[in-house]
Amino acid sequence: VAAAAPEAGPGPAWQSKCPWGAPNTTSISCSLADVMSEQLAKELQLEEENAAFPEVVAVAEGPFITGENIDTSSDLMLAQMLQMEFDREYDAQLRREEKKINGDSKVSISFENYRKVHPYDSDSSEDEVDWQDTRHDPYRADKPTTTPRRGFIGKGKDITTKHDEVVCGRKNTARMENFAPEFQVGDGIGMDLKLSNQVFNALKQHAYSEERRSARLHEKKEHSTAEKAVDPKTRLLLYKMVNSGMLETITGCISTGKESVVFHAYGGKSATEDKVIPPECAIKVFKTTLNEFKNRDKYIKDDYRFKDRFSKLNPRKIIRMWAEKEMHNLTRMQNAGIPCPQVVILKKHVLVMSFIGKDQIPAPKLKDVTLSSEDMKKAYYQTLNMMQQLYKECNLVHADLSEYNMLWHDGKVWLIDVSQSVEPTHPHGLEFLFRDCRNVAQFFQKGGVAEALNERELFNAVSGLNITADNEVDFQAEIEALEKMNEDHVQNHGKKLATFSSDGDTPIYDE
Ligand code: ADP
Ligand code: MN
Repeated sequence: VAAAAPEAGPGPAWQSKCPWGAPNTTSISCSLADVMSEQLAKELQLEEENAAFPEVVAVAEGPFITGENIDTSSDLMLAQMLQMEFDREYDAQLRREEKKINGDSKVSISFENYRKVHPYDSDSSEDEVDWQDTRHDPYRADKPTTTPRRGFIGKGKDITTKHDEVVCGRKNTARMENFAPEFQVGDGIGMDLKLSNQVFNALKQHAYSEERRSARLHEKKEHSTAEKAVDPKTRLLLYKMVNSGMLETITGCISTGKESVVFHAYGGKSATEDKVIPPECAIKVFKTTLNEFKNRDKYIKDDYRFKDRFSKLNPRKIIRMWAEKEMHNLTRMQNAGIPCPQVVILKKHVLVMSFIGKDQIPAPKLKDVTLSSEDMKKAYYQTLNMMQQLYKECNLVHADLSEYNMLWHDGKVWLIDVSQSVEPTHPHGLEFLFRDCRNVAQFFQKGGVAEALNERELFNAVSGLNITADNEVDFQAEIEALEKMNEDHVQNHGKKLATFSSDGDTPIYDE
């Protein structure tokens, strides 16, 4: 353990590098009041958290971990994290020995039972999915067929009832799908495997007890997330970033939201020459408790890319997928020259990007600044421009665009928070775009920009579509009709369309 952490001793180097060390300056960039007033949803969330864990406010308010927090409890945390690393290394060693002993032999022995990390908890990144292209899942086998509801098939002598051993065995195999997603059933589901009732029941028992075990574990973790802002695994990730020198110090928390916690950090040195770490970074930690992501279902549930797949993904991976999505979307925007944070690195559910702001003070949200009428007009035209670029060049719809996710910095608007952004051909993509347009139009119209297009004009200007309805209800109906046509096309041709386009009243599509 000592060898694994050469810098973990006391001293100035440790003081400045430890993520839990006292920050150089104690001021945090954003008061709790700001966080509280951001959105009704966020307010409710905080209230909920307060009720459940009274401590959480202090955490959200204070820096990452203040000086007085460096006591035995943080030593314990550190020890636990190092132990976790140690256990992993031990298991890796076991696997190596296992391999050495087994060699090419047809009969092999397993050290599985001696492993320290329970397979249920380990999150090896071996089977991470590439979310960008989960449309064709090469690993998904067809489900084995089972008997229909009436309980028998065939006629006369060839009748097969549901009590038939083979049919019953297959049915049991198929029922393994109902086990918790983390429960490893191997590739048995895809095979024509027949499980006897006895075996199936034993498996079922085991699956349930594992589920309960995992739930208890999760409860503990959730608790620690609320109390310490981040859970031990996340702390370890952050600790490693500081320890490797990539980050200099993590100073404090900028924002705690429903789905993420954002920290400020000073950048350090990059391990590779070609990559430059920005002097100040923002670290967005996607919360690793699934609850917060339930309400995001609609972004992904109807996305054909995730059909059949969503329910099967390990919850931890779903959260990483959001982080990954944010990274990919930011990169697309960066390439198009849209002002937005620059991606530094993604590690699991932790995304490090450049900090928009200066000296630990984050740039204000558009809703929080008072702009001169000249700047307001400038901001409007820039926003219109960015929305068009986002749509045409990045092939994206922000899907949560409003004055809350636009920052005012260096005399221009910066777009942030794009983990939920979708492609325009997403089954609800155009509806999301319309909502974005409504937010933007209302904000700038209220802000006194006389030139600002109304929501419908803005929608057409951004999408290049030509929806002529002159009232909101008809307009939305046309949007939904377009989406439906696209969906039908997907159903019939098995692939999505590259873009929408419309020619007067009769919409046509470009492949
Ligand atoms: P959420 O899903 O919680 O709204 P955001 O990405 O919008 O996540 O981040 C929450 C807040 O954190 C933002 O409103 C902004 O104030 C701050 N923030 C996020 N990213 C950055 C960044 N790169 N630079 C400065 N501040 C940021
Ligand atoms: Mn946001």
